[in-house]
Amino acid sequence: MTTATRVRPRRYRLRPWLIRSLIPARQMGSYMLYRRGSAVYTGRSDTDLRRRLLAHAASARAEYFTFDVHHSPITAYAAECLSFHVLEPPMDNQVHPSSPSGRLAPCPYCAPTVQLTRRSRQWQEDVQ
Ligand SMILES: [Zn+2]
Repeated sequence: MTTATRVRPRRYRLRPWLIRSLIPARQMGSYMLYRRGSAVYTGRSDTDLRRRLLAHAASARAEYFTFDVHHSPITAYAAECLSFHVLEPPMDNQVHPSSPSGRLAPCPYCAPTVQLTRRSRQWQEDVQ
């Protein structure tokens, strides 16, 4: 992917007035929080993204955020999983995202094929 085609989501200040102006109430969504220029936490809400981000703003755990609105808990979950797997330590997330309540949704990025590919690459690096 070239630089021209890469889309980087805009980072917004984690401020209540901005969250209220950007995100309607009771929307599903995923988000990433940033502190000192680095992504430090990812999450999602299957019921009210705005309320979740307002809670983060009240706790002042980050300075900036990005977000995506979703129309299905499965896509919100997949987006959160992707963010979780690309975050680099140190990060605030301690556990893998949980699947939407009442659904059996395996993480698309924890799939056995992904793990097998990683192991194969590691093995190739080890033998070289
Ligand atoms: Zn996963």
